[in-house]
Amino acid sequence: MKLNPYIAALPAGYLFAEIAKRVKTYSAAHPDADILKLGIGDVTRPLSRYVADEMAKAAAAMGTPEGFRGYGPDYGYEFLINAIIENDYKPYGVNLDVEEVFISDGAKPDVGNLQELFSPDAVIAVTDPVYPVYVDSNAMAGRLGHYEDGKWSKLCYLPCNAENGFVPEVPKGHVDVIYLCYPNNPTGTVLTREQLKPFVDYARAHDAIIVYDSAYKAFISTPQVPHSIYEVEGADECAIECCSFSKTAGFTGVRCGYMVIPKKLTGDAEGKQVSLNKLWQRRTSTKFNGVSYPVQVAAAAVYAPQGKKEIQESIDAYLENARIIREGLEKAGCTVFGGVDSPYVWMKTPGDMKSWDFFDLLLTRAHVVGTPGEGFGPSGEGYFRLTAFNTKENTIEAVKRIVDVL
Ligand code: PLP
Repeated sequence: MKLNPYIAALPAGYLFAEIAKRVKTYSAAHPDADILKLGIGDVTRPLSRYVADEMAKAAAAMGTPEGFRGYGPDYGYEFLINAIIENDYKPYGVNLDVEEVFISDGAKPDVGNLQELFSPDAVIAVTDPVYPVYVDSNAMAGRLGHYEDGKWSKLCYLPCNAENGFVPEVPKGHVDVIYLCYPNNPTGTVLTREQLKPFVDYARAHDAIIVYDSAYKAFISTPQVPHSIYEVEGADECAIECCSFSKTAGFTGVRCGYMVIPKKLTGDAEGKQVSLNKLWQRRTSTKFNGVSYPVQVAAAAVYAPQGKKEIQESIDAYLENARIIREGLEKAGCTVFGGVDSPYVWMKTPGDMKSWDFFDLLLTRAHVVGTPGEGFGPSGEGYFRLTAFNTKENTIEAVKRIVDVL
């Protein structure tokens, strides 16, 4: 039986497995160590009470003859699609058609599955450091060549670092797909409309597509920061946008997200211009039977006044933790980025320490776990990610311990 050689050749899912291994080994040798985790990218606060109640009511209705629903629409219920258009796009001057929004079980599945639309020889570009799913899903499809010294031979890396202010340059040569994620995981940085514009111009000039992941847009607190790539003129001709209720509303365990594919978007399939929206419809109706009804009701409840209010309380609590981390480390003389419009703080390791050495130092001396930047790509070396997804008390204590060690 012949297997997919590209999946077989993938480097092991090294980052979080290696972190878990080192934490386990240290804990076993030091059972009394109270280890604080600021490495996790998962939310910790419960769902909004209102949203949870709406989901429970919808689930109960499924047990009645009147309320029962079987297969839903493959692309999502219109009540949720309309709520997304009205709340996530209209206020920012973006008008979408119901057929341009696809409801899914999350942004990770969407960005992972989306590459099925691209030609096997499409050239891919990612910002570096990067959320690993964009890279690995394309590697699994055989697009990235071979992996050597921490780099894929055919992948175009767009470095983001302190030197360029975390503003990537557009690719030098031709690429077919550019993945952008703002607010960014892992760096926590954002781009303005003016900084996004060259990417839209590039994509239009090169007949390329931007995949824009806005999973963290609920954390945007600076007024002029765009919430959607479609706030940039011309993006509706060249960009797909993925978003999720995971970080917005604590749905990491509930599972719901959405993807916008404008009808204007076309690509070349053996010399013919084809609609990506139509291609995704075709792919989705074959491989997906939609998100469960109670979950879509819960997602729609996120946009009700009570849902909005309760969700904002959680976002504000995480942003307060991010502020505590950022300001605490800055006061101690560290160079830090992000953490204003994002739950992630990206710090420069002291004295240009290797990111794994800094990980070990914090684990053993401060009993704090973060994420070494090198795990997110070559340009992550020399940086370290801390997350705001913990309680305020633990965040304050963790920052105090890090500062003491430094
Ligand atoms: N996109 C980015 C940039 C993320 O960091 C994450 C999760 O950490 C996701 C997508 C996953 O989202 P979901 O839970 O909707 O699959």
